[in-house]
Amino acid sequence: MKIYDVVIVGAGPVGLATALGLRQRGIENILVIDQTRAFRKVGQVVDLLPNGLKAIKYINPNAYEAVKNIAIPQNQPQKPSPVWLYKDLQGKNVYSTHLSFDDWFEKYGEGRVSVSWYDLQTCLRELLPENIVKINNRCVNIEEKSENNCVRIDSVSDASVNNNPYAYWEEEKDVEAPTQQFETKSFQAKLVVAADGINSTVRKVIYQDTSHSAFAQPEYSKYAAIFCRDIEIPSQLHTQLEEKYFSEASILTIGNHAVHNTSTENPRLMLFRRGSIGYILHIALRLEAIQNASENALIEIAFQELEKAGFPEELKQLVRLSSPANMQQRPYYIHRAIPHSNAAELTWSLGRTVLVGDAAHGMPPFMAQGANQGFEDALAITTQIHKIAQNNNWDNMQAITESFEIYEKYRRPFMEYMQHATLTRFPVASDELSEEYGQKVYCRNLDSAVGVMV
Ligand SMILES: Cc1cc2nc3c(=O)[nH]c(=O)nc-3n(C[C@H](O)[C@H](O)[C@H](O)COP(=O)(O)OP(=O)(O)OC[C@H]3O[C@@H](n4cnc5c(N)ncnc54)[C@H](O)[C@@H]3O)c2cc1C
Repeated sequence: MKIYDVVIVGAGPVGLATALGLRQRGIENILVIDQTRAFRKVGQVVDLLPNGLKAIKYINPNAYEAVKNIAIPQNQPQKPSPVWLYKDLQGKNVYSTHLSFDDWFEKYGEGRVSVSWYDLQTCLRELLPENIVKINNRCVNIEEKSENNCVRIDSVSDASVNNNPYAYWEEEKDVEAPTQQFETKSFQAKLVVAADGINSTVRKVIYQDTSHSAFAQPEYSKYAAIFCRDIEIPSQLHTQLEEKYFSEASILTIGNHAVHNTSTENPRLMLFRRGSIGYILHIALRLEAIQNASENALIEIAFQELEKAGFPEELKQLVRLSSPANMQQRPYYIHRAIPHSNAAELTWSLGRTVLVGDAAHGMPPFMAQGANQGFEDALAITTQIHKIAQNNNWDNMQAITESFEIYEKYRRPFMEYMQHATLTRFPVASDELSEEYGQKVYCRNLDSAVGVMV
């Protein structure tokens, strides 16, 4: 059986970016496998912020250009810089964030774009030779094979839908099942990069039967979203919402953040206008409260939460008008970078296998950093694997272990900071903290990081 230098499990943004980074560094004997039965328009909009875009530029300059081009089509007239407003419960502006690429570029030395998960995946995938990415391969197991210094990756291709309570996109019921009902395959690789998302199978395999088994599954973060789109709104309420909240913006967050009150316990109601109006309510909630809640129950929960937090009548009325058919809920999960326990240190690698992206440190999206941090991982791990390749250390376990340790020592403390920022939202507590966060995250100097690591 062929032995690949690297098999990447997961063709999400982080797995594909890793593949592009490896090829850019001359490592071409690679394979990406994904469980999906077909590439489909799934996933949400992802904001790519300066640190993530800088990482993509380092990973592969063509990928950077391609991502920018799909997010900011060149032939479309420039719209005035859109803003994201933050308002208090009285509809008063508390602060605003400009969303245009140029505004961010000026401030942080790199821009900002919004792109759908699917478009991002497609754009990165199309930069890779077609035969490198293989779908219909759900990784079910990995095993180190000492006899030929490699890892065996087992995958299945089957018609069953893998029940994934952590997925943030719909199940593949609408996709035609592969003609063969069930097929198992095995691949071999010198190294495995696990980019299989928050419900990572590889993570489960490497932590099972160890003292870290409790950290194999994602942990509920205590926060959830209840959301509804395409709400039919009577014209009087529509005018009220337009005048009091939207003004010129098409997205805004309303909360009790008068004078930058950031407590994540306070519900935050995001309103958006994409043709019709919709909302996303972020709340701290017991998992059991929403897990099996009916659509009508979700409307009631959202309403009660707004009522408890003193939201004004027009916003409660908006929630009451939600159509049950358009209601959705999403609990947010996390893999803590530093689990709050005294467990022996939990590493992101075992032998020849290493975790990246959400598989290592998935988190709620409150600071829009999941994919951005995943791109920083992809840059760091490709830099390390490049070093292994340059020194022909594919069979040198000590060198491999050291490289994975360097990757983790560089990434884990920063992820701890990012998860703290995400769970507490401290950067919006004051202008000073916001400035400090911007310098630390968006102005991150990846020049020196890559330099130190090589
Ligand atoms: C509502 C929401 C909003 C968000 N907004 C932002 C944002 O604005 N900015 C930002 O940076 N991030 C954001 N994120 C987070 C971002 O989407 C994730 O961090 C990012 O997608 C992680 O990338 P990944 O490649 O690690 O994992 P994923 O995107 O989850 O991709 C994993 C891939 O692995 C495949 N896979 C899974 N299991 C297997 C298996 N066993 N075998 C083979 N393949 C497998 C999946 O099919 C998938 O293609 C948001 C997330 C949510 C839920």
